[in-house]
Amino acid sequence: MNRTRTARPGPRIRARRTAAAALGLALAALSAGTASAEQQTGQGTGQSVRTVVLTYNDDLAPSLDAKIAQSTSIWNSAVEAVQLKEVDGAADFSYVETDGSAHTDTDGHGQGQVFLPVGAPLRVVTHETGHILGLPDHFSGPCSELMSGGGPGPACTNAVPNASEAAQVDLLWANG
Ligand SMILES: [Zn+2]
Repeated sequence: MNRTRTARPGPRIRARRTAAAALGLALAALSAGTASAEQQTGQGTGQSVRTVVLTYNDDLAPSLDAKIAQSTSIWNSAVEAVQLKEVDGAADFSYVETDGSAHTDTDGHGQGQVFLPVGAPLRVVTHETGHILGLPDHFSGPCSELMSGGGPGPACTNAVPNASEAAQVDLLWANG
């Protein structure tokens, strides 16, 4: 009887600690997977602009690594309300190489997957990324429009969003 009573607290405490540790791990996993981190940027203007940092993982698109980095820098230069950032592991969206044609599965606000054929032109990479940022296709537009996509024909290599497209993205992300 005595033996049973004194033996009990040990395992109980251990069980409780294990549960607490498991909870801690779950919380850590949750915060690691948190979609969009937000940060304040000042840019020295004296006025702070709220910027959403959208993370991506391109581990499944190794041959497009350099072009994806270029696309990131194009978008990060063009817009302010949202900035793209490469991460390892869990991310808001990802790039995947495909044998098929370029397309993007997205909720239109930062989550999803960009499928790119090996050797995709930079215009295609920035265009598909535009879908992740919330821009729709506009195939009837001129080459100066990124979201006109293949509309202007294969000779069009412009990979930069025009001012109106950039403004649209800033508007879409103005409130996070
Ligand atoms: Zn498109």
